[in-house]
Amino acid sequence: MIRRMMIEAYRKLARSYHPDVNKEPDAEQKFKELSNAYEVLSDDEKRSIYDTYGEAGLKGSGMGMGDFSNPFDLFETLFEGMGGMGGSRGSWNGAVEGEDEYYSLVLNFKEAIFGVEKEIEIRRLESCGTCNGLGAKPGTKSSKCSTCGGQGRVVTSTRTPLGIFQQSMTCSSCSGTGETSTPCSTCAGEGRVRKTKRISLKVPAGVDSGSRLRVRNEGNAGRRGGSPGDLFVVLEVIPDPVLKRDDTNILYTCKVSYIDAILGTTIKVPTVDGMVDLKIPAGTQPSSTLVMAKKGVPLLNKKNMRGDQLVRVQVEIPKKLSKEERKLIEELADLSKGKTAATSRR
Ligand SMILES: [Zn+2]
Ligand SMILES: [Zn+2]
Repeated sequence: MIRRMMIEAYRKLARSYHPDVNKEPDAEQKFKELSNAYEVLSDDEKRSIYDTYGEAGLKGSGMGMGDFSNPFDLFETLFEGMGGMGGSRGSWNGAVEGEDEYYSLVLNFKEAIFGVEKEIEIRRLESCGTCNGLGAKPGTKSSKCSTCGGQGRVVTSTRTPLGIFQQSMTCSSCSGTGETSTPCSTCAGEGRVRKTKRISLKVPAGVDSGSRLRVRNEGNAGRRGGSPGDLFVVLEVIPDPVLKRDDTNILYTCKVSYIDAILGTTIKVPTVDGMVDLKIPAGTQPSSTLVMAKKGVPLLNKKNMRGDQLVRVQVEIPKKLSKEERKLIEELADLSKGKTAATSRR
């Protein structure tokens, strides 16, 4: 019943919500939260948790159908302390998932283009070997938590526009275990210790600055049986002094003399594959772009496909001419004038 109501509330709001129109100060944020709540409802496993909790937590509220003015209050109250929403990830048995860990890796230009295998050293929290991650000093006996009486949960009442909600929340004294114990001396009761680990990392071809690689389960260890977080390797690529990267293409500028531009020639051009011959066709115009097909960056996860190298041609015109050169150019000018005259006379 509750679930249907919440879905209805979400749909109602989704229909009326428009980012430009809705002037409620934090409307966008609230809408996002509500969307998250809706996601939880669409997820069968989470929904069954909610159903169990929702029916038990809602008592004597005298709630009518669809007559609440602000559906957000309803959502927030119901989901508070439930875990799985927003920041802290948790579950009913007190298990807490480990946090994700981040590592910044610097690559040189070619490593990013062709991929590389790197050995990295990370520091992250691992399950404490002394207490097996339990946090209790080995050999000591745990006792019932006095705050929750061993239940692991405490019940609180909250007043909302819809009435009073009774909420069952994880006991903060024992983190939901229902027991207190002498803390382990290695990890100070945390159940986790910071350790260094070497990880071999395969960086795929085609990555760029800002790319993130996810290494599953290599983040911080979880607590009380929670699964470990992930390791995110954030890449930074050192630019190349001559070859500029533009997504999967490589940009390069070459200089050719006006004579070579007119008559055509072949020049050597640096590429990520080394020096390669590039044919400058006769009559190449200044600032034109020549395409060196498949000399660019391999497409991520499509190793056989590559971008191009785009070569912009800068035509150099001499500022000084020798006597001989000047004479020849002048002859050329006369010839060109004669040609123009001949053309215009026709
Ligand atoms: Zn320990
Ligand atoms: Zn407790």
